[in-house]
Amino acid sequence: MAKLYFRYGTVGSAKTLNLLAVAHNYRQQGKKILLLKPDLDIRFGKENIRSRAGLEMVADILITMDTDLLEVDFTDISCILVDEVQFVSAHHIDQLREITLSRQIPIICYGLRTDFKTKLFEGSRRLMELADSIEEVKATCHFCNRKSILNLRHVDGVACFDGPVVQLGTEERYYPTCYSCYADQIEKSKQKAFAGVS
Ligand SMILES: [Zn+2]
Repeated sequence: MAKLYFRYGTVGSAKTLNLLAVAHNYRQQGKKILLLKPDLDIRFGKENIRSRAGLEMVADILITMDTDLLEVDFTDISCILVDEVQFVSAHHIDQLREITLSRQIPIICYGLRTDFKTKLFEGSRRLMELADSIEEVKATCHFCNRKSILNLRHVDGVACFDGPVVQLGTEERYYPTCYSCYADQIEKSKQKAFAGVS
């Protein structure tokens, strides 16, 4: 049986750069790979997998609700790479697990562990349950020098741990943070909101 890998990290942890390096290595050896990503990610245009360092590749398959991964032609594929895997459904993670067994193809998935509310994403949860190998891609907290474990969301410059994931008309940014800085930022934004109300 081939292995299922989950490589997780916070925002800014060079996960996509890591993915692109793995893809490059396989291709240099003349091996075929498949690049997958969920259809939800519209940050850089649908089909592009781009790292913050500026490198990019085009995804071979965009996974939508209707995609049946078991129907894909995997002839001569040496490895499957999945970007932004946190947005992949549990159902599709189950299919990837099945493919490592039935097709003997290793699958390496990259994504965030938790959302800005510190909760596991659906795809990440299923991978925590099913992956043979779970590896952390490390990054440093934006505010101090500790390792980051959480993704802090700022909306219009204020830390925000609630509300919908997409808010139109606002500017949002995500920062990698340690738990201490996350808690500190949230506390400060609560105090600011309280001061604004009274
Ligand atoms: Zn910190």
